[in-house]
Amino acid sequence: MQIKTRFAPSPTGYLHIGSVRTALYSWLFARSQGGKFVLRIEDTDLERSTQPAIEAIINSMNWLNLDWDEGPYFQTTRFNRYNIVIENMLSNGNAYRCYCSKERINSLRKKQIAQLKKPRYDGHCRNRNRHYISKNPYVVRFRNPQEGSIIFNDLIHGPIEFKNQELDDLVIRRADGSPTYNFCAAIDDHDMKITHVIRGNDHINNTPRQINILKSLDAPIPSYAHLSIILGNDGKKLSKRHDVGSIIQYRDDGFLPEALLNYLVRLGWSHGNQEIFNLEQMKNMFNLKSVSKSNSTFNVEKLLWLNQYYIKHLPTEDIATRLLWYVKKQEINIFNGPKLTDILTLLSGRCRTLKELATSCHYFYEDFNEFDVNSANKYLCSTAIESLNMIRKILASLNEWTPASIHEAIKKTSKELHMNINQIGMPLRVAVIGTDRSPSLNLTIHAIGRSRSLARIDKALAFIATTIHAHSQKH
Ligand code: GLU
Repeated sequence: MQIKTRFAPSPTGYLHIGSVRTALYSWLFARSQGGKFVLRIEDTDLERSTQPAIEAIINSMNWLNLDWDEGPYFQTTRFNRYNIVIENMLSNGNAYRCYCSKERINSLRKKQIAQLKKPRYDGHCRNRNRHYISKNPYVVRFRNPQEGSIIFNDLIHGPIEFKNQELDDLVIRRADGSPTYNFCAAIDDHDMKITHVIRGNDHINNTPRQINILKSLDAPIPSYAHLSIILGNDGKKLSKRHDVGSIIQYRDDGFLPEALLNYLVRLGWSHGNQEIFNLEQMKNMFNLKSVSKSNSTFNVEKLLWLNQYYIKHLPTEDIATRLLWYVKKQEINIFNGPKLTDILTLLSGRCRTLKELATSCHYFYEDFNEFDVNSANKYLCSTAIESLNMIRKILASLNEWTPASIHEAIKKTSKELHMNINQIGMPLRVAVIGTDRSPSLNLTIHAIGRSRSLARIDKALAFIATTIHAHSQKH
């Protein structure tokens, strides 16, 4: 049997973490079984579906490298097909026209709620003569079996049973002629020969309805696997409230697709205690048996940890190429400064995202106008004049500009002035980078370059002179 799965998002909002995990598990299952993966855009909700949301789905899938073998199919281009099936169902009695007005349905609903009953259609039009046709608007309802039950063996949760009595006669086509989700999904899964439906467990209640529709068509029933939900750290279902934006936002914030996929694959699936999985390993190891039944909790710290892991462990050239995008976005001109691969060597231990890397590397390429106030107050004071002058002189006269020679220069200054390395290093650091935090000083100064470093030391000395002057004027 050719395994075939699908990812079937509705383009009614952005693609978020939960949907992407569903896409990933469906994709991995297909790939791990040598099967096919279909992308289907469920855009029948004409009011809420938008073109930007469709583009976001496609862009996100592309960015994550989740490729599809068929599609994207759009349900809005399949209305003819749905109507053919609906007409057949009307003529063989598996569906019927329902002329109940909105008012009737609303008051039925209110009554049922008042009686503490589950609101459901009461079958008012179910037994009308099949050939009865009126000019009034109507919806088409599926004639759901009234007896027996539907049991399906969920591949994650085990057997799940629904009594047919609990299911009412579902609207499969609205009065405006548009077909509804459960119907289209069932027809598509059948037409597209989907063997495994892997989706969020918010769809468990839809499954018996879809199975009944498939049964009425004598269509094979696919296997179903419903994924547990992802919770925020407050224990509530993950949503916009938790500040987790769209997948494209993660890209813009400097996350690597490798890290995001690795994070998501572990959010509800495990392979022993292994934490790090590249795509090949995921494809080889993924199975539905090891998908957890319990809900999982989204943990951004762990995602950041993984992101930094991949920044450090993927080939530096590759990360540098990707970093270029963020650097350009921040309008940093890198052509008169160190190579991005050198920046990575210096900063990848300190930054967890590519965006943070880009934000942290400005001082390698651009001169700054102001020193950080706290750092300057602490370190750019009269006691630093002598050491800054001396280190400037030594740096200016170095034969070789290497991290080792710069290190020696700092050591020499400290020895000559009987000051410890820190007393030399901190004012020097503030002078060349503007703040008191940077990676190892000799590497940083080396990467910034000689003339730029010397000019910045001069600027710091001028700054100290001005502040001393201003101070003496005050007193
Ligand atoms: N379109 C549905 C959604 O976005 C998914 C339906 C399905 O996977 O069956 O929730």
